[in-house]
Amino acid sequence: MNILVFAEVRDGKLKKSSLETLSEAVRLAKPLGGKVGVALAGEGIKAHAETLGRHGAAQVYAVESPRLKNYASEAYAKAVVEAHKKFGSAAIFMAATAMGRDLAGGVGALLGTGAAADCTGVKVENGRLLARRPVYSGKAYATVGFKKSPAVLSLRPNVFPAQETGGQAAVEDLAVAFEDADFRSAVQSVAATSQGKVELTEASIVVTAGRGLQAPENFKLRDELAAVLGAAVGASRAVVDNGWRPHSEQVGQTGKTVSPNLYIAIAVSGAIQHLAGMRTSKVIVAVNKDPDAPIFKAATYGIVGDALEIVPVLTQTLKKVLAS
Ligand SMILES: Cc1cc2nc3c(=O)[nH]c(=O)nc-3n(C[C@H](O)[C@H](O)[C@H](O)COP(=O)(O)OP(=O)(O)OC[C@H]3O[C@@H](n4cnc5c(N)ncnc54)[C@H](O)[C@@H]3O)c2cc1C
Repeated sequence: MNILVFAEVRDGKLKKSSLETLSEAVRLAKPLGGKVGVALAGEGIKAHAETLGRHGAAQVYAVESPRLKNYASEAYAKAVVEAHKKFGSAAIFMAATAMGRDLAGGVGALLGTGAAADCTGVKVENGRLLARRPVYSGKAYATVGFKKSPAVLSLRPNVFPAQETGGQAAVEDLAVAFEDADFRSAVQSVAATSQGKVELTEASIVVTAGRGLQAPENFKLRDELAAVLGAAVGASRAVVDNGWRPHSEQVGQTGKTVSPNLYIAIAVSGAIQHLAGMRTSKVIVAVNKDPDAPIFKAATYGIVGDALEIVPVLTQTLKKVLAS
């Protein structure tokens, strides 16, 4: 079973979540005697072939074009489909980033096959590929199979470990004949909101604060704790709706989905729509003055008390511990 992985390059950098996706594809395909190929689209992308080879890719297809500098749904989908035809893959994987979620549907539509988004588990049973994905805001998991081949899957970032296997990939330029119709929708420019900060969806530690922090100026407590931990910052929707923080920081059903190693929720109630965006975090620490707050049901560790008092102590203590 050959698997093709679409690897995402942003600002000249290969996304960590793409390496995680590639590693999972290698873990699945290798025992079955399959190979893993990678499709790259953009400009100056071949430089990443070495890293992809080290992570187990046998073959890299590079679709180079100045027109692909920015993401364009249909053109990128066409590039992936062309790579798939060349490689003969039984499945196509990509990371469930903003780009990957869009692209998976496009690739599935072009191939007339099924796409499963935001998968948190993949396995092969009796020769069938099965994907596990959260449903009902993460309250339950569904295991989905595919009626047609190739199956298209986007894999949730930070769930699957990236692993170097020490190989080398063969690189092939893939010439794709693009037409203007392939660029009916394309990204014109990108305005980065988190310049210099850790990207929320890929961060291994996230510190989020909710309405219980009481005032926008108190968010400096969240930011100070995040700075000590090298963490990305998040917010609940109540905070965003109040205009205290931008929507780019919102975690949850109508915000971003995160799955860090450590998620610290400060004065967040833990509504189902918030849990939908962070429930798969490996360790969850909650600080809330209400011992019955729903967030404690999801938390690994809980601190009951006033966040305005607890968070500064936590920040100072961690600063000392991490410095020693
Ligand atoms: C369709 C839909 C989509 C939604 N999408 C999202 C989403 O994407 N993300 C999201 O977050 N929400 C979402 N919501 C909103 C969600 O239902 C909650 O209203 C929201 O998450 C509440 O935010 P909060 O926990 O910050 O505020 P609150 O519910 O007001 O909770 C504040 C918490 O802080 C605690 N607290 C208060 N003071 C202190 C203190 N001094 N110290 C410690 N703790 C304190 C309180 O005990 C309470 O638990 C959505 C709702 C709907 C209907």
